[in-house]
Amino acid sequence: MTRPPLSALDGTDYDAVVIGAGAVGCASARQLAGRGFRTLLVDRGDIGAGTSSRSSRMLYSGLGYLAARYPLWQMPFRPADMFQRLLYTREVMRCRAELVRDMPGHLTKHRFHYPFRKGDRYPPWLVDLGFRLVEALDGWRVPLAYRRLSPAKAAGESAMAAALGGPLRGVGVFQEYMYAWPERICVDTALDAERRGATIRTYAEATAIAREGEDWLVTLDERAPEMQGRAQVRARMVVNAAGPWIDRVPGGGWGKRRVIGIKGVNVMVRLPPAFRGQGLEAFSRKGEPYYVFPWRDFHFIGPTETEVSADPDDIRVEEAEIDYILAEANHLFPALRLTRADVLHCWCGVRPTSTRDGRQTSLPVEVAEDPAMPGLLAVTGSTIMLHRHAARKVARAVESRLGRRGPAPAGIIAPPDGLGTGQRVAAEHVVRLADLIRRRLPDGLEPDLGRGRAEELSRIAAASLGWSEARRQDELRHFEEDTARVYVNPDA
Ligand SMILES: Cc1cc2nc3c(=O)[nH]c(=O)nc-3n(C[C@H](O)[C@H](O)[C@H](O)COP(=O)(O)OP(=O)(O)OC[C@H]3O[C@@H](n4cnc5c(N)ncnc54)[C@H](O)[C@@H]3O)c2cc1C
Repeated sequence: MTRPPLSALDGTDYDAVVIGAGAVGCASARQLAGRGFRTLLVDRGDIGAGTSSRSSRMLYSGLGYLAARYPLWQMPFRPADMFQRLLYTREVMRCRAELVRDMPGHLTKHRFHYPFRKGDRYPPWLVDLGFRLVEALDGWRVPLAYRRLSPAKAAGESAMAAALGGPLRGVGVFQEYMYAWPERICVDTALDAERRGATIRTYAEATAIAREGEDWLVTLDERAPEMQGRAQVRARMVVNAAGPWIDRVPGGGWGKRRVIGIKGVNVMVRLPPAFRGQGLEAFSRKGEPYYVFPWRDFHFIGPTETEVSADPDDIRVEEAEIDYILAEANHLFPALRLTRADVLHCWCGVRPTSTRDGRQTSLPVEVAEDPAMPGLLAVTGSTIMLHRHAARKVARAVESRLGRRGPAPAGIIAPPDGLGTGQRVAAEHVVRLADLIRRRLPDGLEPDLGRGRAEELSRIAAASLGWSEARRQDELRHFEEDTARVYVNPDA
């Protein structure tokens, strides 16, 4: 099927143009289209190819959101902050329950451990209380099933607990979910938005936004290979959902800095087979959250947390970050003695955290509108976990300006049958081979990163999208270059 030229969109008119097809933009488009707003969703690349494909792939329970970074003794003196944390944790747990209910095919459930050691920042009784509180704040709908076990009992129940270095005071055990496939959460949400009436255009970069009368004119430039073109579309409202690139969307004049980028790195390793399917949540010796995430026959470990101001496109994994992550794993599990040779690959991303008074704030999802720019919204601070919550906030902001049109969308979203067939390739906005391998099929998340079937899948894409043999070869080269850029192999 041939992709229509971008000029086909020139002069079209929408209630809302959503810039950015990450988890937040896709969910926003679904909310808006579902509620009856004429919606256009654009991305300068593929659906879900930004930060939403660089995460730690975990449906976080709310405990981390309750944990204040200031000294514990200050908690009673900050009631407003604690109250806000409780409200936020409740929202988080509701979103967790909603995703388990509505996207079960995109999640996998795992046993996680939380080690208690002498001198920990949080004493066991406080962590117990935290887990109970989180479960009570709507977590009961999808239990965490938290228990605190003695080291001996925990070791008897799981190989991962048995391998923890001492001296241990106990081990918390709970159930948590991983995204089987975060990219597909974005794709299936975008396709659901399309079914509800949204128009989707990938590889269309928003290069200018200008006021005209009561409306906004958004200029889009073609970024797909072998194509050129430009379109100008009109919109009552513009939703900037460009994640860590929000402040870089040109021409929006978003008023002030909206996001602070927090870089994170994850490292994929092979751990003992008896650890399969089990995970760990802990704090690093620096006091930062540190995880061991189960991933098929493997695990990945991390992340790091570093504030960055460079363009997220230029952010790369540093050697020192890999060394830090491996050293923390060896501290937790001394018998493992992980080295660089155990690393399959690493990746990094930049979290788009919200700012308040120019400083990072770890809590809220913000939908900001500058009074001088009525109708331009910027949505920041959402995780994948909170993408539906962020989208509902966007929809409410649009409704408050344009009026209510219809009810919020509901229902289960599942990956469709026939993935990877020529018919689905054409229907799922695949433009490049990397889109198909990484974000439409599970292949890109396999240990070989999809290289094993690249040739076969390039032939399916070529037949479906009408590629010449030269284009097919170009796509294979591009897939290989892009894979090596995103997933670094430290020994390569
Ligand atoms: C290391 C790390 C670990 C994380 N772990 C987790 C986790 O375990 N669980 C969890 O829920 N969340 C996690 N997160 C957070 C989560 O990944 C992000 O917060 C979330 O993906 C942000 O989604 P988004 O839609 O806001 O941004 P993105 O996914 O980055 O989407 C923004 C999109 O905007 C597009 N864009 C940019 N500029 C333009 C333009 N001018 N025109 C058109 N399009 C444009 C980009 O191409 C991109 O696709 C993690 C993040 C990191 C970095």
